[in-house]
Amino acid sequence: MKVLVSGASVAGPSAALWLGRAGHDVTVVEVAPALRQGGYAVDFRGEVFTTVLERMGVLEDLRSLQTGGSAMRFVDESGRKLMRLPAEFAGGELEVLRADLSRVLYEHSREQATYRFGDSIASLQEHADGVDVRFESGIEETYDLVVGADGMHSVVRRLAWPAEQVLERHLDYYVGGWEVPNTLGISGDALLYNVPGKLASVGADRRDPGLAQTLFVFKSQVLEYNRRDLDQQKAILLEQFSGLGWHVPELLAALPAATELYFDSISRVRVDRWSTDRIVLLGDAGYGATFGALGTGTAVVGAYVLAGELAQAGDDLRTAFDRYEERLRKAVSKTQDGSRSGQFMAPATRFGIAARNKILDRPFFLNQMLKMAQNMSELIELPTYSAEQGQFVQE
Ligand SMILES: Cc1cc2nc3c(=O)[nH]c(=O)nc-3n(C[C@H](O)[C@H](O)[C@H](O)COP(=O)(O)OP(=O)(O)OC[C@H]3O[C@@H](n4cnc5c(N)ncnc54)[C@H](O)[C@@H]3O)c2cc1C
Repeated sequence: MKVLVSGASVAGPSAALWLGRAGHDVTVVEVAPALRQGGYAVDFRGEVFTTVLERMGVLEDLRSLQTGGSAMRFVDESGRKLMRLPAEFAGGELEVLRADLSRVLYEHSREQATYRFGDSIASLQEHADGVDVRFESGIEETYDLVVGADGMHSVVRRLAWPAEQVLERHLDYYVGGWEVPNTLGISGDALLYNVPGKLASVGADRRDPGLAQTLFVFKSQVLEYNRRDLDQQKAILLEQFSGLGWHVPELLAALPAATELYFDSISRVRVDRWSTDRIVLLGDAGYGATFGALGTGTAVVGAYVLAGELAQAGDDLRTAFDRYEERLRKAVSKTQDGSRSGQFMAPATRFGIAARNKILDRPFFLNQMLKMAQNMSELIELPTYSAEQGQFVQE
């Protein structure tokens, strides 16, 4: 089949790897001019995820790029420790920088797929024989299958799904992250500082001791801004955090010059049905939750199951799409329920901050939270597809 994948972050290259390996003619289109850098570390927790990464043939590369995880040290304005969460709390079994993960997936898939950067789908017309696609660049092509792997604000979803079938729920918070010079000399614990409704944090950059990564979270109603306009997003962050103490002014000072910025609302996407006749959603585009809901793991597993079901169904799209959704929907919805991470990272009140710190300082509660995270990742049952039907196991 001639397949178009929209988005080249995690879900897109994972799909390209499997679909290319199965012999399809795959093009990946990414709106950014190059593979996007930036983003904090993402983690894989549970055997399901490492098994899929192993079957993809990327596990070893990723292990060599492991960050090792960082403990999280919550501090007050003077830098005094209030509470510390161990590395395994945020890190899972395998933690890598999102940009490293994306690059490894890209490198392992680019032999089997054509990547086109700096372009985006402008219109989609689905009919019995294919999907006619017009790109912003003016190129026009017809594809047998279109995979929307273009994240929480998917253009594929916007163009092909009626608005009433999509529930995009803003979960009261925004998140932003950018690179800063490591003037604080951070090498071990990430440092986190709260005021009500806001979190400013900074952690070491494992690749370069001269750099560090920020992660800022703030509570806000829905904001209007242009997603392609970095300056607007920077202005929002500068306004939200201006006047705060601790190291906030120093961290904000690097923001105007940052070339990559991760900025998004903490939200959740639910779509009535993940596919039309020839278009299917994958990863955050179909079932995303910005933070704390195994989004990276479910994107990788989703790509595997989608490609596996396509191979099993002999490319009968309807059957494959239905099985893909059947296998994943229940588990994914449950993981999405755990996505109240804004409240956790930046409780709205002083009392809320103190209560969180107190509770998590106790080993019993901390262990309960770790257990809950582990249980979530065990919700997904992993099918095994036979190697003959599309070379599904890397020999
Ligand atoms: C730069 C960046 C930084 C991130 N940082 C973090 C982080 O720190 N912590 C965290 O938990 N999650 C982060 N995420 C989200 C995380 O990668 C996803 O939740 C998860 O991995 C699922 O991946 P996905 O591929 O479905 O979606 P995403 O990772 O969101 O990828 C979507 C891709 O589609 C591209 N795209 C968007 N619109 C179009 C379009 N119109 N045409 C073509 N391509 C388009 C985007 O540029 C992006 O490359 C980040 C995502 C990005 C893009």
